[in-house]
Amino acid sequence: MSETFDIVIIGSGMGGATCAAGLAPSGAEILILERGERLTRTAATRDPRAIFQRGVFRPQETWIDGAGQPFNPGNYYYVGGNTKLYGAVLIRYRARDFHPIEYAEGATPGWPFDYDELEPWYGRAEALYQARGALGQDPTEPPHSSPYPLPAVPDEPAIAVARQRMARVGLRPFSLPMGIDVEKWLAGGKTAWDSFPNVGDGKMDAEAGGLAVALAHPNVRLQTGARVERLILESDGKRIKGVEYRLGDETRFVAAKLVVASAGAVNSAALLLRSAEGGLANRSGLVGRHFMNHNATAVLAIDPRVVNDSIYQKTLGINDFYLDDGRGGPPLGNIQLLGRVTGPILKANVKWAPEWSLHWVSRHAVDWYAMSEDLPNPESRVTVDGAQIHLDWKRSNWRAHVRLVDKLRERLRAAGYPFALTRPFDRRTPSHQCGTVRIGADPKAAPLDPYCRAWDHPNLFVVDASFLPTSAAVNPSLSVAAQALRVADHIVKTDLKG
Ligand SMILES: Cc1cc2nc3c(=O)[nH]c(=O)nc-3n(C[C@H](O)[C@H](O)[C@H](O)COP(=O)(O)OP(=O)(O)OC[C@H]3O[C@@H](n4cnc5c(N)ncnc54)[C@H](O)[C@@H]3O)c2cc1C
Repeated sequence: MSETFDIVIIGSGMGGATCAAGLAPSGAEILILERGERLTRTAATRDPRAIFQRGVFRPQETWIDGAGQPFNPGNYYYVGGNTKLYGAVLIRYRARDFHPIEYAEGATPGWPFDYDELEPWYGRAEALYQARGALGQDPTEPPHSSPYPLPAVPDEPAIAVARQRMARVGLRPFSLPMGIDVEKWLAGGKTAWDSFPNVGDGKMDAEAGGLAVALAHPNVRLQTGARVERLILESDGKRIKGVEYRLGDETRFVAAKLVVASAGAVNSAALLLRSAEGGLANRSGLVGRHFMNHNATAVLAIDPRVVNDSIYQKTLGINDFYLDDGRGGPPLGNIQLLGRVTGPILKANVKWAPEWSLHWVSRHAVDWYAMSEDLPNPESRVTVDGAQIHLDWKRSNWRAHVRLVDKLRERLRAAGYPFALTRPFDRRTPSHQCGTVRIGADPKAAPLDPYCRAWDHPNLFVVDASFLPTSAAVNPSLSVAAQALRVADHIVKTDLKG
């Protein structure tokens, strides 16, 4: 079976869905091919034991790590991609993140353009995802030409107290910008939303945001259950002819004038590597390289005298160690609250402990998340062996991360939390994966130009977290969405005219 579309988008996550929303008003015939299906409400969607202990939403897939060990990645294949389970923090990279940064253990290259270039699309992405936030609290906040569309998500009473305690020890907690309608979320069940799947309960994920807007246009079609296996080149080796995908037991081909790969940083790289000898769009030899994820640690601050009865918790961020270590040394990273970590969630990580004891720990803990930049390293990479994905993540900048966790523990002690339990996130959690098909001004140093167009193939774009040349130390989605809208405008201007 063969059809032709103006644009085929591979993947309906943050990059693909948002790009589709930007392209849809052009009237171009757009097909979105999504490997997963729509998530629907079941008994498991708000059951922490099903989600965290039994992993019912995780894929039936194993990747191989750098030591040759198989692991089951927390990489979610649904309409909306990883955003279905995301924490909905919609935060901009800081202006400084667009420039090279020197760390003790290496440096970042910066972006091929400044923050100011992306700024208008950050505003549009915040509008599309109905971001809720408050300007003027975070000392690292970059300039905004538009206010947040909605006021910040309120702190629950226990978290308002935690905010005061952290402020008393000289930190400047700010309201995390979030894409969540709390009332609607809580009506669906009294749980946090971070790592819980959204089934129309008010979390502004890629399905509820970009995809819903795109599909309101009659020229946009979504095909679910369609797993793209390779891109096919024209005989001139320059232009992409179309894509081959599996739908059930059938292999299908769809012709496209323009292809946007948005399968996520691991899968877009894997797709390009599988599509041609030596990899498609790979003159630089860099497709799959520079894989980054954040260095992240959960820090449970325990005060046995105080009860944390919050449900969602996730409303605070702290950037006092973002631009430097607090004493003018290299930056350390961002601190933010996790979604509320309850007994059943702790049990998934501490299997030997009885759940009642973990419930006690949880009642007296405020759950923080320390996050530091991972630096681009060409040896940190995605490779493929037929259908098998290999992910050899080489962590970097770990010393800065350890210092960030130490700083947080020190301030927590000063704020009256006598104990802190810490646990780093491991390689099975590639939540903030990025960098594998990066943008750059030099075709020798990056597979994509600054508009995410493949230097080697004029009708191929890669628009997902792959394009990010740096991981910064804040959550990636809003930057993916902003660039997706910028790229869509560029395509409409340069490729769809006439
Ligand atoms: C638990 C969790 C919490 C997170 N919290 C936050 C947060 O609070 N804030 C934030 O900014 N970020 C957060 N993230 C990260 C965020 O979800 C990602 O940065 C974002 O989704 C990346 O967008 P993407 O387009 O690159 O990939 P995705 O959104 O994952 O989209 C990729 C899509 O491609 C599809 N696909 C893959 N392969 C194929 C194929 N071969 N054919 C067809 N379709 C395919 C997938 O099914 C998926 O729909 C979180 C992630 C997780 C897992």
